[in-house]
Amino acid sequence: MECKYCKGKSIKKGFQTGIQKYCCKVCKKYFQGTYTYKLCKEEDNKMIVILNNEGVGICGIARITGMSKANVINKIKYIASKTKLTLPDEEQQEYEMDELCTFIKNKEDTYYIILAINKVTKRVIDFFVGKRTKENINKVISVLILLKHFQLVTI
Ligand SMILES: [Zn+2]
Repeated sequence: MECKYCKGKSIKKGFQTGIQKYCCKVCKKYFQGTYTYKLCKEEDNKMIVILNNEGVGICGIARITGMSKANVINKIKYIASKTKLTLPDEEQQEYEMDELCTFIKNKEDTYYIILAINKVTKRVIDFFVGKRTKENINKVISVLILLKHFQLVTI
């Protein structure tokens, strides 16, 4: 087995939750031979974006892609952090703030997607994925404030 870090020679070194573990003879790092799913696959991220844009929820995305819900959320957070915001060139528009809530395993561990949408065009002006705190909501509002003559309506 080739080491996934340094491509050196590795030997079998026990099991962890039924998966064969390997130890590299060169860099001494441990790794597993097969992964149930590959992390950080570009296609996965694209698929998540497509499914999300189609309105598929986190549970649905997890079922379709075979990823865990926690992994889907982590990927969405990652994609969100890499998404560059281009401020639309519009004035005198009305915007709506909306939020979607989801949780992993227990209801105490909730995550929110906080959105600001143009009321007419439905264009998403900004969004934030994370905990529902005043600070995080303000991150979305602060973008709206940059727009000229906006009006905020709540739904
Ligand atoms: Zn190695």
